[in-house]
Amino acid sequence: MTPYEISSSLLENNSSRVLAGCVEVRNSNDRTILRAVAERVLPKRAQVEDIELDGGIIPNKHWLQSALTRLEISKGDTCFCAMYPHSEFYDLGKEQASHNLSTELRERILKTWSTDHISHCKNCGQCFEVHRESGWHVSWRKWSELEVP
Ligand SMILES: [Zn+2]
Repeated sequence: MTPYEISSSLLENNSSRVLAGCVEVRNSNDRTILRAVAERVLPKRAQVEDIELDGGIIPNKHWLQSALTRLEISKGDTCFCAMYPHSEFYDLGKEQASHNLSTELRERILKTWSTDHISHCKNCGQCFEVHRESGWHVSWRKWSELEVP
């Protein structure tokens, strides 16, 4: 999608179009695109946040807030990995596949179906400790920033 298409779908009064826009924002690391979207969408933030989005186990508002935060971040020079601690639903495997992160398993706790990973942002070198737990078709993660040694 072009920046114009992404911002148009975020500004529409249609929840599935808004969510489609959120997915585009979430999957993009291109600051030129995201800044163009931010320029059109952020001044109308209140209007965008007003739409009813529902959702299942994970409320859809979560995806919207996370997209809006990503747009805010895109305006400056902060690395997008700053987003991870804001969302419990960034998928480690997917981020690694997109070459955003390198990650290694540190511990797997079979009893609670949880794992601990250490991840490094490939862009800025920030280190994270990622604790993952699963249940009922969703898994969520707690990202903690670690001091870079
Ligand atoms: Zn980073």
